[in-house]
Amino acid sequence: MTHSLWFRFVTAFMVVILVTVGAVYIFVSRNTATLIEDFEETTQEFQFDQMQTILASHYYVHRGWEGVQSVVEEKSSVLGQHIIVTDVDGMVIADSQGERLGESYNGESAGRPLKTLFEGEHVGTLYLERDPAVEPYLPPLQELTESMNRFLLMGGLLAIGLALVLTFVLSRRVSSPIQALAVTAGQLGRGDLSQRAQLKEKGEIGELARAFNSMATNLEQAEQLRRNLVADVAHELRTPLSNIQGYLEAIRDQVMEPNAATIRALSEEAALLARLVDELQELSLAEAGELKLVYQAEDIITLIKQTASPWEAQAATKQISLSLDLPDKLPSVNVDWQRISQVLHNLLENAVAHTGGGGRITIGAAGKGDRVEVWVADTGEGIPAEDLPNVFERFYRVDKSRARATGGSGLGLTIAKRLVEAHGGQIQAQSKLGKGSRFSFTIPVAE
Ligand code: ADP
Repeated sequence: MTHSLWFRFVTAFMVVILVTVGAVYIFVSRNTATLIEDFEETTQEFQFDQMQTILASHYYVHRGWEGVQSVVEEKSSVLGQHIIVTDVDGMVIADSQGERLGESYNGESAGRPLKTLFEGEHVGTLYLERDPAVEPYLPPLQELTESMNRFLLMGGLLAIGLALVLTFVLSRRVSSPIQALAVTAGQLGRGDLSQRAQLKEKGEIGELARAFNSMATNLEQAEQLRRNLVADVAHELRTPLSNIQGYLEAIRDQVMEPNAATIRALSEEAALLARLVDELQELSLAEAGELKLVYQAEDIITLIKQTASPWEAQAATKQISLSLDLPDKLPSVNVDWQRISQVLHNLLENAVAHTGGGGRITIGAAGKGDRVEVWVADTGEGIPAEDLPNVFERFYRVDKSRARATGGSGLGLTIAKRLVEAHGGQIQAQSKLGKGSRFSFTIPVAE
């Protein structure tokens, strides 16, 4: 729970909200207190000035302090202040609370000198103090500050509450697609490769979902390929194995003699098995990109001549003419000699196998920009158009029964394709049924 994305979102949001609201609360309440203190001071000043004018007028009108006590009492309740007035000798001549009348007083708070209106003669001193006993005309500022702080606190708590609800809802919205993705990933992990993330999200989460789905598709395809491969391999191994088994059972049941011919047949089947296993191993390395290729700048003309020469005798025994169509010079190519020779060998093997007596096989090469093209053309039986796109597929044979007879594994072209691609090249086939075939591949020129 505490590790869930949703919980982390909520915690992170809450910390941010609390810090923000707390900072606003402290900042506003502090500033309000200062502002109110300033205001209070200004008000006090103003009340002093007001009282001074009132008292000076009274003094002027009455030519003395007579009757000042009632003025002070009346104003005290309006201003909410305790007002004391002393004469020039410091004797209290008016006290809004009436306690100090006739006493000498020099003030618990600073007093202000009282001067007559015109001559400016010093006639007494005025003291103002906030009186908590008197209900003032205006609400006390302290109370104002407190209620402002209360509102601020309530507003803050309301904001936190609202933010909390929104955080819960929004965090759910953000974390639920990821949670859904995790559920799908779990199902995929348990082997159900048909599962896909059903997300219509945009942005990063949408991208994640798309990447996840394409990964799942690749996984499913890889799994399908693996299953097909196992099925294909089992199928391919079964024929030579059951042949061997058949021969051995016939010998055991004395239906067949264990003579030279039987042993030759047995060893041919074993050789076919061995070749199949070798080629499968090579193909799996090539498909995993783990073939160790030793690249070197090589002369492709020499490579073609050397690879073709052992096939001349083979072709001659089938009365096939084998000719080379090579220019005098070609740029050298960056290849693993062994592997490209093997590609050519596979193409020549097929050409000889599928060309009848009197036919022709031509091996050619030509420069094509930054590549060199090599081809093997024959005038053999050709490949039906519907089979042509499949000939590079693993175990694909145009004529299954005939291919068995010629001992083909159905892997030669697949391996050739992988090897050419490992060199950064491409391979292709052209063919006309009954007329012949042309297999060609390109390889990059050495820099
Ligand atoms: P195989 O080991 O059976 O020759 P390949 O992968 O080399 O397997 O070839 C696949 C199939 O393509 C062959 O079984 C054959 O039917 C067809 N094929 C390949 N090369 C030629 C060719 N030159 N002429 C006619 N058919 C060919």
